[in-house]
Amino acid sequence: MTRWKMRPLLTLAGVLATCAAAAATDQASHDGAMFGFSPANAAAQQSLEQRFDAQLDPADQRSWLKQMSSEPNQVGSPHDKANAEFMLAKFREWGWDAHIETFSVLYPTPKKEALELLGPHPYTASLKEPAIAGDATSDLSGALPPYNVYGGDGDVTAELVYANYGMPDDYKELARRGIDVRGKIVITRYGGGWRGLKPKLAQEHGAVGCLIYSDPHDDGYAQGDVYPQGGWRPAQGVQRGSVADMQQYPGDPLTPGIGSTPGAKRLALKDAKTILKIPVLPISYADATPLLRSLSGPVVPAGWRGSLPLTYHVGPSAAKAHLVVLSDWGQKPVYDVIAVLKGSTAPDQWIVRGNHHDGWVFGAWDPLAGNVALMAEAKAIGSLLKQGWRPQRTLVYASWDGEEPGLLGSTEWAETHAQELQAKAVLYVNSDTNGRGFLDAGGSHSLQHLVNQVADGVTDPETHVSVGERMRARMLVDGSGKDAKPEAKADAKLAAEGGDLPIEALGSGSDYSAFLEHLGIASLDLGFSGEDDDGGIYHSRYDSFDHYIRFGDPTFEYGVALAKVAGHIVLRTADANVLPMRFGDFSSTLDRYVGELHKLVDDTRKATEQQHQLLDAHAFTLTSDPTRPIAPPARDSDVPEIDLAPLDQAAKQLKQSAQAYQAAYAKRAATGFNMPAAQQQQLNQLMGSMEQGLTDPAGLPGRPWFKHFIYAPGMLTGYGVKTVPGVREAIEARRWDEANHYTVVTAEVLGRYRAQLDRLTALLNKPS
Ligand SMILES: [Zn+2]
Repeated sequence: MTRWKMRPLLTLAGVLATCAAAAATDQASHDGAMFGFSPANAAAQQSLEQRFDAQLDPADQRSWLKQMSSEPNQVGSPHDKANAEFMLAKFREWGWDAHIETFSVLYPTPKKEALELLGPHPYTASLKEPAIAGDATSDLSGALPPYNVYGGDGDVTAELVYANYGMPDDYKELARRGIDVRGKIVITRYGGGWRGLKPKLAQEHGAVGCLIYSDPHDDGYAQGDVYPQGGWRPAQGVQRGSVADMQQYPGDPLTPGIGSTPGAKRLALKDAKTILKIPVLPISYADATPLLRSLSGPVVPAGWRGSLPLTYHVGPSAAKAHLVVLSDWGQKPVYDVIAVLKGSTAPDQWIVRGNHHDGWVFGAWDPLAGNVALMAEAKAIGSLLKQGWRPQRTLVYASWDGEEPGLLGSTEWAETHAQELQAKAVLYVNSDTNGRGFLDAGGSHSLQHLVNQVADGVTDPETHVSVGERMRARMLVDGSGKDAKPEAKADAKLAAEGGDLPIEALGSGSDYSAFLEHLGIASLDLGFSGEDDDGGIYHSRYDSFDHYIRFGDPTFEYGVALAKVAGHIVLRTADANVLPMRFGDFSSTLDRYVGELHKLVDDTRKATEQQHQLLDAHAFTLTSDPTRPIAPPARDSDVPEIDLAPLDQAAKQLKQSAQAYQAAYAKRAATGFNMPAAQQQQLNQLMGSMEQGLTDPAGLPGRPWFKHFIYAPGMLTGYGVKTVPGVREAIEARRWDEANHYTVVTAEVLGRYRAQLDRLTALLNKPS
């Protein structure tokens, strides 16, 4: 599983801008000194990183990827276990202290799946992905049939209704047309929001079943040539994936908040809040076409039309469909590979680096392309060890299992070792899939400067400017178009100023969730994308080695680039005099978020007033056809006073504290971090736990597992982030009292964070 992004449109203008930006940033005023290092240590670090880079061989990554993606490797498969054992042997060979940590998790697998259209034009869905010429693994057995894990069991027969992407606004449109999905099977298409929301919302609206198909408009022939001619989704390709309600909590549905160890107390299946009640099945557009043809009723709104050669109707269908999904609800083992290098001077400060190794079928892109970069780092670090180097802080390299069903391996490990991680882990660095193009970097904003410095020091394999300069070029292009979103414009403005580039806030969709959002450990997520074609084979049988070496990263140079970026971040954090974190960057990002909240309140109020004026002034007749009435939108509630002053105040005070910290830091850095070892250790200890200051033990409203008050996956966006979620989501959902309450709670959290920052400043200022 990974983030699902719109690819940037690289036009000629984009390419020209890449060159222009590269030239412009040659003079950009980056802070030259290596962040967190004394001058003498910085020189040693430079040479260490050069020796690290020299060990990275793209041929290694190619051969590991080929071997590890040679058989299906989903949770519970023999090859998934073999891959874990292969990595265990490799880590040991490279000098790491490695072991496999096993958890037993609830992992349902399909026992029976069937889908047929009844009536005058019967059709039985194939539910199969056939072999494709030129794709060597596509005819291998051992894979599970396409399914959506953690959907409910069911055998239902009902009419079909088409609900577009199956998001909340789509149900509003259906309601305006008087279409009710109660007792129906809803057919939705992939895209527009997180997969798991589609069946969840269908269930909440009273549907008895849900189908999710891949329309060629979104990731098939409307985007590009389909596999094997091009990289896009062929007619019978199916996107598998989890539909667990991971906005409540990820991990084993039976053990929220605790590790799935042998003695752990497990919930009864019926009490697991993250499992759906209705059956859900993912299907190809080949299988969806006859179903969509069977729909009658109104023609869909313009934005609901896909690219199939038919007229899209909302439904219901004249004929009924019959859907069966029955699963084996057994426990399966997940195998996390954990490799440790104990630090020489600060062994109780850990840097954790992870990527998952389980795929949906062969998983060449997702996750093995990222996983082999992680292995390359571990091998290179092993050879540094043999040259006599040892990290000052402890390195923990982890290859997680069970990410695809619901971040199982990382979450269970993080929950099992929660106390020790909160005491020791200073950074978690994640990657997942990887491809060709631009560096995507997201994470805790205290790490933004570190990411920028590292990105400026790694050369892009294609353009030969730094990957940081290429990132800058993309931001300038993405934010310059007429239709650019406000956030893209704000990013472009920062990029044009020549200073540090903003990193994205993290939502969910990969293994950082438990570290960042549950434990409050500063985290990063890294990967390259934008010039590759992976969208069309995402989570299908065709995510294969043969696809990857044609449409992914044929030379594995971007695998090497990812290993350099992630590796340099790990090595710098391991050996810095003072941890490379800058809290002023968090403070200015917070200012931006608070500004967005003000705008959100204003915009919501304005839109509500306009709607009320319109509804009051007109008696609506939207159609002259009495058989197809379209009702006006439902009247929104009034927007009362929302008092954001506590947040304004907290952000302002944090800014003052961050400025004082920065001044103290600059003074101490000018001495080459000359301070007694005990004071330095105390400083680093406190810094390493700063991010935990942004959490609250009570967690977010309605979902206590999520404890971070600045970053969370949106309840209605799934992977997509909501910043300052307690407040933002309450405003968006028009829960006004909750918005006012969580403004105060969030301000209190920020106050505690500021107090911790003031303690850091005092430590820096303490005479030595
Ligand atoms: Zn993944």
